[in-house]
Amino acid sequence: MSNYKLGLDFAKEQDKNDPLSHYREQFHIPKDKHGNDWLYFTGNSLGLQPKSTQKYLQQELDDWANLGVEGHFEAKNPWMPYHEFLTDSMAKIVGAKPIEVVTMNTLTTNLHLLMVSFYQPTKTKYKIVIESDAFPSDRYAVQTQLEFHGFDAKEGLIEWTPRKGEDLLNMEDLETILEKQGDEIALLLIGGVNYYTGQYLDIKKIAQLGRAKNCMVGIDLAHGVGNINLELHESGVDFAAWCTYKYLNSGPGSLGGLFVHEKHAHNKELKRFAGWWSHNKSTRFNMRQPLDVIPGAEGWQLSNPPILSMAAIKASLDMFNEVGMEAIRKKSIKLTGYFEFLLNELNNDKIKIITPSNPKERGCQLSIQVKDADKNLHKKLTEAHIITDWREPDVIRCAPIPLYNSYEDVYKMVSKLKELLK
Ligand SMILES: *Cc1c(COP(=O)(O)O)cnc(C)c1O
Repeated sequence: MSNYKLGLDFAKEQDKNDPLSHYREQFHIPKDKHGNDWLYFTGNSLGLQPKSTQKYLQQELDDWANLGVEGHFEAKNPWMPYHEFLTDSMAKIVGAKPIEVVTMNTLTTNLHLLMVSFYQPTKTKYKIVIESDAFPSDRYAVQTQLEFHGFDAKEGLIEWTPRKGEDLLNMEDLETILEKQGDEIALLLIGGVNYYTGQYLDIKKIAQLGRAKNCMVGIDLAHGVGNINLELHESGVDFAAWCTYKYLNSGPGSLGGLFVHEKHAHNKELKRFAGWWSHNKSTRFNMRQPLDVIPGAEGWQLSNPPILSMAAIKASLDMFNEVGMEAIRKKSIKLTGYFEFLLNELNNDKIKIITPSNPKERGCQLSIQVKDADKNLHKKLTEAHIITDWREPDVIRCAPIPLYNSYEDVYKMVSKLKELLK
C-alpha cells in the first residue's frame, strides 16, 4: 500500500476511521508514572490483559468458593466440560474443525505428546527437519526425541537454512532437502511464522512437500495463532501446536492449544501417552475401565485442566470471536504496512527490516536488524517506555497488535526511533 503519509495527522485520521479502534479501551495498557500509556509492541511475547479477564476469573473463583467440588457440574460454566467452551472459537481461529482442536497443557509439552504419536521413526526413516533458526524449545524437543529413540541428535537433525547472505528461508531449499533426503526423513517440524524474522511460511506447501515423501508434518504456531489467517484443516498438516499467552492475550504461562488433522481422528492404532482425560467421557467416572480413547484432538488430553487458566483464555477467545480473524488481519496488514512505510522513510543505514516486505509472507511483527548489534538502541527505547524486545544476536522485534495498538502508537514509536538514531 503506497497511500501512507508522513505526519501525526495522518496517523490520527487512520485511528479515527479504524473500525477496531474501540477495542483498545478493552485492554489494560501499562502506564508510566505520569499516567501515559506505554507504547507496547510486545504482544508477540506476552499479549496485554483484556479488562474482561478479571470478570471471567472471578466467576470461577466465586463458583469454587460457593460450590466446592459441585462446581464441576453446578458452576455457571461447569468445569467438567469447560475446555469444550473454548473449542469452537479456537477452531475458527486456526481454520480447523472442532474435532481437530483442543486446549491443554503448554506448547512444548504438547509438541512432545504429539511427537509420541507422529514421530514414529524406523531404522532408515528417522530424521527430523527444522528451521535453522527454530525457537530453542522446539530444537531441544526434537533433539531429545531423536535421542529418546536411540538416534544421534546431530546426525538425525536436518536444518533448513537461509542461503548465504540471506535472512529468510526459501521454499525451494526445503524442496531440495526433501528430494535428496526425503526417504530418510520421518518428520518436518516447522515454525509457521518464524519467531525471529517474522517470516510466514506457506504451510500448505510444506504439508504437500512432506506428504509427497511420506513424512509427517507438524507446525509450531506460537507466532501464527491470532496473528495470521490460518486454514489448518485445508492445509493438510498432520498436527500443530501453539501457545495462548502471545497473540491470544490469555496471560503468562497460559495453556496451549493443539490440532490433529481429522484424518487421524479415528485411528486407534496411533501410539500415544494417555491419561484419564483421554478416555471416553461417558464412562470416565466408572473407573477401572480399559482405555477407550476419545476420537479427535481431545484424545490427546491427559489431565483435568486448570479452569482458572481456561477462564482467561475464554475471555480472550470471546473477544476474538466477536471481532473475527478477518477483520483483525485486515487491520494488521494496514498497520504493519504503515509501520514499514515510516521505517523506510527514515532511510537510515543503522537499521534494516529483515521481515519479508510482502504482507502475505509475514504477520504483524517487523524484525529490525540493528547495525553492529547495538543493544543500546533497544535500551533507550525501553527507557522511553516503548516496549519492544531484543533477540540475540542483533534484532529488535516489534509487533503492532491490531486489537490494541493504534496508528498513533506506531507514529510515536518511529518518531522516537528517528531521534535515537541521530
Ligand atoms: C514462545 C514459543 C515457545 C514457548 O514454549 P512454551 O512451551 O510455551 O514455554 C516455543 N516455541 C516457539 C516457536 C515459540 O515462539
